[in-house]
Amino acid sequence: MRLKGKTILITAAGQGIGRASAEACFNEGAQVIATDVNAEALQQLQKACPGIKTHLLDVTDGHAIKALAGQLPNLDGLFNCAGFVHNGSVLDLSDEDWDFSVALNVTSMVRMCRTFLPGMLEQAKVGGSSSIVNMASMASSIKGFPMRTAYGATKAAVIGLTKGIAADFVKQGIRCNCVCPGTVDTPSLRGRIDSAPDPVQAQKDFIARQPMGRLAEVSDIAPMIVYLLSDDSKFVTGQAMLVDGGVTI
Ligand code: NAD
Repeated sequence: MRLKGKTILITAAGQGIGRASAEACFNEGAQVIATDVNAEALQQLQKACPGIKTHLLDVTDGHAIKALAGQLPNLDGLFNCAGFVHNGSVLDLSDEDWDFSVALNVTSMVRMCRTFLPGMLEQAKVGGSSSIVNMASMASSIKGFPMRTAYGATKAAVIGLTKGIAADFVKQGIRCNCVCPGTVDTPSLRGRIDSAPDPVQAQKDFIARQPMGRLAEVSDIAPMIVYLLSDDSKFVTGQAMLVDGGVTI
């Protein structure tokens, strides 16, 4: 029970990596507050895992973030998972596409951290350490991929945000790390594959770029989230943890 006694909030917990992480944290003894913009997905999560608390939250809505924080106890852990993939080069990127990618992938995390950090600092005073985990990607400042300019740029910003928070609060019991997965088999990836002109080839192409010869499962990523939120990682901060099946060897 590596997360016993910890209260942890997760965004985009309705499906994919967020959901798997919510279940893994719950199974390690955490009080999990699972949030998502999709009410039906949250209902399904609660059916599967009745001890998890759920709240609707659109992370692009700053007022909603503040309102939710006002209803919750101080957190020991925060996993900012929500993010969006824009498919295209810089020539395909309208101002609206760019603004949306920045709003969902970066500004939401800035607001979540700004809103929940004061309570986490209080918690760190009594509990010893609090942990923020942000979702970045191998597609970021770490490596460029075709048709991922907005995605890579915003995920690079997540790595910078993570390092900045880690540096500012390292002496006050706050750790901040980010996770950089390879390609993970989740509902949104399935959507990207299915909407390709040749879905069979698209799946082959995603697999071909991963040296381990397969897509990641969400169960490959959730243990890293649990580790970073737990005291097992109490000497780890400011890091971008790659879980990519060997893409960046
Ligand atoms: P997904 O894209 O399948 O699901 C995303 C979840 O986010 C959904 O439940 C959706 O309802 C929720 N969501 C969407 N907009 C939201 C908003 N405004 N507020 C709150 N919730 C919102 O999940 P995934 O593929 O596991 O991706 C999760 C994160 O992992 C993203 O940040 C993504 O960039 C990152 N990531 C994914 C992969 C991959 O290959 N799947 C690889 C690297 C990083």
